Amino acid sequence: MSPFPATIFIEPTTACNLRCRMCPCHGAEKSVSLPPRFMDMALYMRVLDEAAAHNSGLGEMSINPQLRGEPLLHPEFPAMLREARLRGLRTTLSTNGTLLRGKALDAVAEYADYVFVSLDAVRPETYRSIRGADCRAAFDGIEALLERRGRKTTPAVYAAFVKLEENAGEREEFLDRWLARADGVLVYQERLPRGWYGDPNVPPPSPRPPCPHLQGSCAVLVGGEVTPCCFAVSESDALGTLGGGATLEEVYGGEGFARLRALHDAGRFSESALCAECNAYESYGPPVSIPGGLVLTNAFTTFFLKTP
Ligand code: SF4
Ligand code: SF4
Repeated sequence: MSPFPATIFIEPTTACNLRCRMCPCHGAEKSVSLPPRFMDMALYMRVLDEAAAHNSGLGEMSINPQLRGEPLLHPEFPAMLREARLRGLRTTLSTNGTLLRGKALDAVAEYADYVFVSLDAVRPETYRSIRGADCRAAFDGIEALLERRGRKTTPAVYAAFVKLEENAGEREEFLDRWLARADGVLVYQERLPRGWYGDPNVPPPSPRPPCPHLQGSCAVLVGGEVTPCCFAVSESDALGTLGGGATLEEVYGGEGFARLRALHDAGRFSESALCAECNAYESYGPPVSIPGGLVLTNAFTTFFLKTP
């Protein structure tokens, strides 16, 4: 196992300016209510510095500054992206796109490497029924980013679409529109309770393999708690914490991670409340060529990727 994760999710904020109805953290139908918190810049910089010290070259380590909230709400978000770039770290960002303007737009266009903009709909009324807001800010945001990016190859910009009842009739139109405008489209299924993506009646592969996320990723929550993956977004999922001065390397190589990896290696998934019902460990199958692009699929995601 690598002594340091190659992919680090880090949570700038738990706050969000939308209330998407399917959101596990902010959705109107969900009982979870998150107080808005913002990551301390000193903590963020500690993680970045440590990642940079382990980075053996541009493009190897990925910093993904998002988890339970809208990252662009963090007042220092432009600096967060800039500092990652200055350290030679690759950044992958998911945003609802509504704040892609001004300094935030400048920073995303300049310093991000991959940007996923969650749109979910073609028609304004569908967008509103899912995301609870007018679509204009998000649609203008992704267009502004594409315009700013111009002929550059970075950031790569993808439109994201979560499959729901409301947008069932718009998937093809969404694909046509954004495959023509952006670099790809990510279509994925809503995450069901207890972590299962996709059809809950489809059993996991047997034997179930250890989760690859445990060998290469982790997530740092807003207060410094460290969880094994971007699907583990509750403080109670933490396997360690950066509070008290511990380094990420120490936590990642520490007892909490070792115990969970041992359970996976032994096939004792049911003993982990976090992982027992999760199928997000399934990785992409072989790419399938389509005219002008590739399709990558796993249990819950279809990623249409344009190739130059
Ligand atoms: S934009 Fe994202 S974080 Fe915000 S409510 Fe929607 S799904 Fe949740
Ligand atoms: S099984 Fe699921 S919850 Fe557990 S580490 Fe893997 S992705 Fe995360």
